[in-house]
Amino acid sequence: MTAGAVTAVAGARIEAVGIGRTFGPVHALAGVDLTIAAGEIVALLGPSGSGKSTLLRIIAGLDQPTAGDLRFDDRSQVGVPPHQRDVSMVFQHFALYPHLSATDNLVLALRYGRGMSRADARDRAAETLRMLGIADLARRRPAQMSGGQRQRVAIGRAIATRARVVLLDEPMSGLDAKLRVELRVEIVDLLRRLGTTAVFVTHDQAEAMAVGDRVAVMNHGAIEQIGTPDAIYDLPATRFVATFVGSPP
Ligand code: ADP
Ligand code: MG
Repeated sequence: MTAGAVTAVAGARIEAVGIGRTFGPVHALAGVDLTIAAGEIVALLGPSGSGKSTLLRIIAGLDQPTAGDLRFDDRSQVGVPPHQRDVSMVFQHFALYPHLSATDNLVLALRYGRGMSRADARDRAAETLRMLGIADLARRRPAQMSGGQRQRVAIGRAIATRARVVLLDEPMSGLDAKLRVELRVEIVDLLRRLGTTAVFVTHDQAEAMAVGDRVAVMNHGAIEQIGTPDAIYDLPATRFVATFVGSPP
């Protein structure tokens, strides 16, 4: 990664108030209250099925809550479509366009997501690939990259838009352990330099502890505890949290 000035953003403050989401009889989210400060990185940690992705999708606007309110900087986002929310999302499975080069994957997002001119989009794409240390991948298509390289491009695409909120849903699963550690350090460094607010979903407690300014532990569609990694580890509020994060008895 190269040092140097980058265009920073003012991250949005996110406030979830009593967010519920039912799918028929299933309560995927059962009243989630969560406030995330501007520029903060919160790790959402919990077992499979605990509601992490549903909460993230609701923040992104890809799904609607059946109860409660979601606000960015005190403005309700309920009913606001994803492209008007100033969020970008990194999915588990890259979701890059296979027929486009790394550069063109970023340029597409910048032109259609941000309305940038082709020239500006190309400049921003180049700057972003440099920031991620993958300038040499600019012309390659996803099939010509390793899994880690693809995920770097996907992360690049999410941050290139300078969205005020970046949402990452298990962005490292599928990558090997060493690469995951390397990438999470890079991601945190980038998010901090940009000043964006971020929600990072994972079911890996070590990853959550390393990434989050605070960690929110989810279970059965609710947040059981939220706090700094140290507080969660040293002072687990429930037996579930203690077991899940592996606190000493
Ligand atoms: P996580 O990301 O923590 O694994 P999810 O948010 O994906 O959990 O799912 C939470 C719960 O909601 C699960 O019980 C899941 O089966 C259910 N769920 C999620 N999406 C849907 C859907 N589109 N239709 C029905 N049930 C769903
Ligand atoms: Mg999930």
